[in-house]
Amino acid sequence: MDIKNVFSNNKKWIKDKLAVDANYFEELGKGQNPELLFIGCSDSRVTAEELMGLGPGEVFVHRNIANMVSGIDLNAMSVVEYAVSHLKVNHVVVCGHYACGGVKAAMQSADLGVLNGWLRNIRDVYRIHREELNAIQDEEKKYDRLVELNVKEQCVNLIKTAAVQKAYRDRGLKVHGWVFDVHTGKLIDLKIDFEKFLTDIMEIYHLD
Ligand SMILES: [Zn+2]
Repeated sequence: MDIKNVFSNNKKWIKDKLAVDANYFEELGKGQNPELLFIGCSDSRVTAEELMGLGPGEVFVHRNIANMVSGIDLNAMSVVEYAVSHLKVNHVVVCGHYACGGVKAAMQSADLGVLNGWLRNIRDVYRIHREELNAIQDEEKKYDRLVELNVKEQCVNLIKTAAVQKAYRDRGLKVHGWVFDVHTGKLIDLKIDFEKFLTDIMEIYHLD
């Protein structure tokens, strides 16, 4: 890849968009009204809009290493607050992916400097589900399962926020847990029972 190509690619992209709709950028400039907040991994293979077949204006995106939703991460919490309470999205998705480098790093004993604190959140997921994970003999399968369980726990972290609790009560907002399979391109819905989680944890995390 030549970095200079980015600008010629951009020119071509503008031309293509205008060929389909002459007012495309005029409309885009008016504002955004996305239905969906997508929280995914920063991994270059997990492209958010492209893998869902969506375009500009359709999805609010937050990406970080291993798609984490930490209550003390000002960045993630601001994104959730803005998307849920102000843009009023009706769906929040946590999308993990198989072969996630962040999840793999958390499964190994290594000092990764400033990344240690971040990966500790994934190690906590491992600790919570230690019994299930330790029972899996195949390393690859264990790794895949940790990716899924991490998605599940990040969905739970979303449900702990006041913004999500309030939006659920006011307009039936839904939280979804998905995994992107980088080997096949398939998007898998983990079918997380949002309502059950909400009822289960509300007793402790009830804010609103
Ligand atoms: Zn990843």
